[in-house]
Amino acid sequence: MDKEWRETMKKEPLGRLVLYVTDHTLRGACLCGKCIDAQDNPQDHQPDGGVDLTFFRVKETNGADADKFKALVLEATPQLLDGAEHSYIEIGATDGGIGQDFALRLIGLGHQLGLWQALTPSTLFGDKLPADTLMKMAGMGLVTLKVGEPCHS
Ligand SMILES: [Zn+2]
Repeated sequence: MDKEWRETMKKEPLGRLVLYVTDHTLRGACLCGKCIDAQDNPQDHQPDGGVDLTFFRVKETNGADADKFKALVLEATPQLLDGAEHSYIEIGATDGGIGQDFALRLIGLGHQLGLWQALTPSTLFGDKLPADTLMKMAGMGLVTLKVGEPCHS
C-alpha cells in the first residue's frame, strides 16, 4: 500500500485503527451481486474459515493481537464498546466516512479476537429465510457488532 498514505494514517487514532484492520484481515469477494467490480463465482473466492458476514467472509491474519486491537478501538472509536448494537453502515460513516468495506472488516476482526459478537441476518434467522432475503436484510444494515457487557476499561 502507498507509503505516503500510511504515514498520514498513522498520525490519527482512526487512521491507526484503519491501518491495523487493513493489515490484519483477509476478506472474500462480495456476494451481493451488485458490486461493479464483482468477480465471477465470488463464493469460490472466500478465505478459509473466519467469520461469515453475509456479504463475504472476513478472516484475521498476520498475527492480529486482541490487546493491541482493543487499545486502538478505545483510542479511535470507544463508542463501539458501549454495549449497544452498531451497524457497518453507521461505522462506515464514522468521521466523514471510513467506508463500509472497512467497517465489515473491523466487525469481523473484533469478533474473531473476542472483543464483540458479529450479528448477521443468518445468526438471527438461521436457515429459515432464503439467501436473497438474508442479503437484502444485510443491505439494510443488519450486520452489526455488539459487546456482551458495557466496557470502558
Ligand atoms: Zn457487493
